[in-house]
Amino acid sequence: MSRRILIAGNWKMNMRAESGASLAKGIVDAVGKSPAVEVVLCPPSVYLSGVADAVVGTPVELGAQNLYAAEDGAFTGEVNASMLTDVGCRFVILGHSERRQLMGETDACVAKKLHAALAGNLVPIVCVGETLEQREADDTESVIETQIRGSLEGLDEARAANIVIAYEPVWAIGTGKTASKEQAEAVHAFIRELLGKMFSTEVAEQIRIQYGGSVKPGNAEELLSQPNIDGALVGGASLKVDDFAGIINAAPSA
Ligand code: PEP
Repeated sequence: MSRRILIAGNWKMNMRAESGASLAKGIVDAVGKSPAVEVVLCPPSVYLSGVADAVVGTPVELGAQNLYAAEDGAFTGEVNASMLTDVGCRFVILGHSERRQLMGETDACVAKKLHAALAGNLVPIVCVGETLEQREADDTESVIETQIRGSLEGLDEARAANIVIAYEPVWAIGTGKTASKEQAEAVHAFIRELLGKMFSTEVAEQIRIQYGGSVKPGNAEELLSQPNIDGALVGGASLKVDDFAGIINAAPSA
């Protein structure tokens, strides 16, 4: 089964209205009219509309970095799934390790957001990953299994094929250290097998599993050519047109 490669740029808390619009336009130009891979930009929420204007009518899609799992109401400072689709989002990143570590997000909280995203017709990109300490203690697989089971709690087989998982080893995010292609492929294969047990082999074969952690033009090709690596969630290198375009161009066509 062929899964279309998905390259997503997580701008985190970077850029401003003008620089973001010009980055988005640069990516649109670099991607062209019919790219072999799917490309998503995830700017800070205040800049979603501006980036939406820059990508509308092009193959480049829009994603948010977070949502709040509730309908409209008294939730000061929050943004829900319906608001995100209203401004043109198709994707939403959930449970990024920075949110897990800095904002105390738990697997249960990520699961609530996952259901809100799916109910609002957004494709959730659910992030999981082990710390260096957990890897060194040989706990990677148990940590990933706990995160996946907890973050996907209550998800039924019919909807499972619509989600994306991003495997992002915490020790590789923003550090310049990348998992080797063998390390990454081993965890991706483990995740796919786990998804097979949780849902079915057919559904597990459809779910895209991105790798994230210091992906750059120079390491993208070897990572993206692994059989179970279906794309990349890119932080730092998504902030420069040349770097992000280099990653997109390194992806094997589906
Ligand atoms: C990320 O933010 O999801 C990420 C992988 O960051 P970086 O590419 O900078 O390591």
